[in-house]
Amino acid sequence: MAFEQPLDRIAPSVSESVSLERERQESTLGMIASENHVSKAVLEAQGSVLTNKYAEGYPGSRYYGGCQHVDTVEELAIEHAKALFEMDHANVQPHSGTQANMGVYFAVLEPGDTILSLSLSHGGHLSHGHNVNFSGQLYDVEQYEVDPETGYIDYDDVAEQAREIEPDMIVSGSSAYPREFEYDRIGEIADEVDAYHLADIAHVTGLIAAGVHSSPAEHADFVTGSTHKTIRAGRGGLIMCDEEHADDVDSAVFPGAQGGPLMHNVAGKAVGFAEARTDEFEAYAERIVADAKRLGEVFDERGLSLVSGGTDKHLLLVDLRDSHPDLTGKEAEEALSDVGIIVNKNTVPGETRSPMVTSGIRVGTPALATRGLEEAEMETVADLIVDVLDAPDDDAVVDRVSSRVDDLCEEFPIYE
Ligand SMILES: *Cc1c(COP(=O)(O)O)cnc(C)c1O
Repeated sequence: MAFEQPLDRIAPSVSESVSLERERQESTLGMIASENHVSKAVLEAQGSVLTNKYAEGYPGSRYYGGCQHVDTVEELAIEHAKALFEMDHANVQPHSGTQANMGVYFAVLEPGDTILSLSLSHGGHLSHGHNVNFSGQLYDVEQYEVDPETGYIDYDDVAEQAREIEPDMIVSGSSAYPREFEYDRIGEIADEVDAYHLADIAHVTGLIAAGVHSSPAEHADFVTGSTHKTIRAGRGGLIMCDEEHADDVDSAVFPGAQGGPLMHNVAGKAVGFAEARTDEFEAYAERIVADAKRLGEVFDERGLSLVSGGTDKHLLLVDLRDSHPDLTGKEAEEALSDVGIIVNKNTVPGETRSPMVTSGIRVGTPALATRGLEEAEMETVADLIVDVLDAPDDDAVVDRVSSRVDDLCEEFPIYE
């Protein structure tokens, strides 16, 4: 019966693409700051029969029968999330980080309310009010920026802007800001102007879970995150808040923004969050940051300009305009991709090129740290990257770097 046949028999081209993607991940150095590799256990949970189950509602109060086992799974994910982030309430149902932010907005804002958030071109996120996203269409959005000289957020400027605008919500958190956010400062500003504070920790969920970065829990009304970036719990999102907003958040997620939760992904979260409570994960999170710092030091020694001069976290934003004025972010991304180093082009503060071209690249370490690359290897990787940026059309350089990338990938396999 077709129902019982394996993937390669039923859908050979899907099966082949899955194999090729696995091979691509193994044979390249993945340095996209928002990507990572999950454990075999998380993969198994996500690829399980839980995908078959409808479970609208919440554990113990569902709109469908037969939910006893998925209840157990969701309760576990919630318990781990509350313990990791030290917050009263967790909702683990958002399908993604964007849906998590949607849940918070729907919980306490009305259309037309004002959100103050970091500008996309300075490191913010689409879901913080960009005009192509629902958030920019439903709400009145004002944005703060980094100081163009230092690359840092000037919190006094944000405070001044907040006093002028009197927003209903201030969003902290970013996709491409290399420095630790001062959640306490944003919390104070939000208190002063009587706004909610949403801390979107999407990129640093794992660093905060491990205690490597300080938690926004005390300084924010809501904390949202992704579950697939620095924490390795598979694709998805989550929301945390105090008991006071728990019911509003839960009903904003379901039935407000979503229907049935993806229970196979909730299972991935339960497994990945449990892994994140171990000493091994803490060492991993420390390695992510140590790797990024070492990478930044070598970039700096070799003449690259880094936005804000370096990093506190898992990513670096390289501004190519000083060191390589004729090389665009797009060309750099392509040249590195040709040697098996995968990064993304990224706008930089004061960007003059379009978002499809850009003058920068964003380089992250979470996936390489998962493979076990440490600071010594990061020195090699940094040199390989700069060698390519310095001579993107030199075949001898391309051949040499490609073969070093192959060696590293073999030495540090993802799935043995
Ligand atoms: C990645 C990210 C999100 C969530 O993105 P999804 O692709 O919807 O999971 C939200 N906020 C920030 C700041 C992000 O970087």
